[in-house]
Amino acid sequence: MKTFQYFADGNWRDPASGQWFESDDPATGKPWARIPRCDARDVEIAVAAAQRCFTQGPWSRMNAADRGRMLRRMGDVVTRHAERLGDVETTDNGKRRRDIVPALQGWLTDSFHYYAGLADKIEGAVIPVDAPGLFNYTRHEPFGVCGCITAWNSPLVIAIWKMAPALAAGNTLVIKPSEHASASTLALMEVLQEADLPPGLLNVVTGFGDEAGCALVEHPDVRLLSFTGGVAGGRQVAELAARQVKPLILELGGKSPQIVLRDADLDLAVPGIAGGIFPPAGQSCIAGSRALVHRSLHDRFVEALCSHLADALPGDPRDPATQVAPIANRPHFERVLRDIEGARAEGARCVLGGKAVHPEGLGGWFIPPTVFTGVTPDMDITRKEIFGPVMAVLPFDDEEEALRLANDTPYGLAAGIWTADAVRAMRMAEKLEAGTVYINNYFNATPQSPVGGYKQSGYGRENGIEGMKAFMQTKSVWLGMAP
Ligand code: NDP
Repeated sequence: MKTFQYFADGNWRDPASGQWFESDDPATGKPWARIPRCDARDVEIAVAAAQRCFTQGPWSRMNAADRGRMLRRMGDVVTRHAERLGDVETTDNGKRRRDIVPALQGWLTDSFHYYAGLADKIEGAVIPVDAPGLFNYTRHEPFGVCGCITAWNSPLVIAIWKMAPALAAGNTLVIKPSEHASASTLALMEVLQEADLPPGLLNVVTGFGDEAGCALVEHPDVRLLSFTGGVAGGRQVAELAARQVKPLILELGGKSPQIVLRDADLDLAVPGIAGGIFPPAGQSCIAGSRALVHRSLHDRFVEALCSHLADALPGDPRDPATQVAPIANRPHFERVLRDIEGARAEGARCVLGGKAVHPEGLGGWFIPPTVFTGVTPDMDITRKEIFGPVMAVLPFDDEEEALRLANDTPYGLAAGIWTADAVRAMRMAEKLEAGTVYINNYFNATPQSPVGGYKQSGYGRENGIEGMKAFMQTKSVWLGMAP
């Protein structure tokens, strides 16, 4: 078993508690790593280091172009070590290696490079105010120490999506990954040291949400929080943050609809919709878990989907042939199975999957693609974020009903539309209550385009110029010009 330390002030440290907890390999179901159980004392060390770095260290004197050069180096390091980082993430949370390694070499490296390019393009404005003899201008300034709390399904993606814009904006960071998948974020810290980072710039405290997580949220020197996780956790963090009127970016869950219009090309829609949920076993915030299908296509769609998925079984995430990832941790595996049983109990019909499977030689947590029909809008399977490989298929009769069903959810993260009529799709996109709408594609994300939620899927944006502005505050400066 590998024993990790946490990372603060440029050093690896044992937790003040003297305690570690185990992290399991989802493919085998066996523990493979010991993760430090940090508490408020470790958070104090990390936040103090981040605060020193922000106010006194070389970072506080570094100009924007130099910040950009540092981010470029960080991207290059991530490309160089993509295989090693991918191995850790695959072992720790079961993400398919064939997904995470190219992502690190491609669009996650690009994230660093994109924000490297933006770092020296932060411009204020001269505001033409209605006040004679006064000159007014704005500055966009970093917050200082930012606390970043990440979810277990994609720790590297989420950490990089926060880290790159936050650093471009000039902040320093303390990251708290999920107790269920902390190892890859620690491995990222290890390799990033090659990019010559000042001590205290990036710190990672591991541990439990209600211990290390709460301590980070409540620390008075943490000036902004960026949280990715479920609605329940997000709400708790928002309540704690509100006590100190602390600004917050919330990236929460979803129950995203995939709308298949009457003129959709099923040869495109079926693999697109299957690919939008099943490869990570539904463990993606934007997983398209509700297929809303025009009644005339419903039976053909279900048949084509089941036949497309017939061989798509979960397996070893290290094997490049594996089509569906394992479930990342045991409590979640048990929760997904309970939700499947719940869907049966409420009268939905399981037409594919629906039971755990046990690939030979692996003792871990595997659930195959599972599809339910006979679903109604009020059932739990239609309303609850299962965060597993479970899809509900519902028929609709016209555009208006499709939109009503699509928006009939407290979530608003993403939506898909499949149709030959792009103008109609754009008209519908305006009416969908979702932060991202995909037309005839799904699951795409690049550093340039903002992502985030409507309704209970959160607020604030990641990626794009907005993603960097979220980590900055605006100051208005007034100069009296009278002699
Ligand atoms: P949780 O909300 O359970 O946890 C998220 C993070 O918050 C973890 O690091 C957790 O620590 C921590 N945490 C939980 N409670 C608190 C608290 N009171 N104070 C401080 N920190 C706390 O989410 P999951 O990890 O289970 O992730 C799955 C969820 O994340 C899904 O709903 C998914 O949709 C969402 N998600 C959203 C994304 C987006 O961009 N919108 C992207 C990816 C996932 P610990 O685990 O140690 O308790």
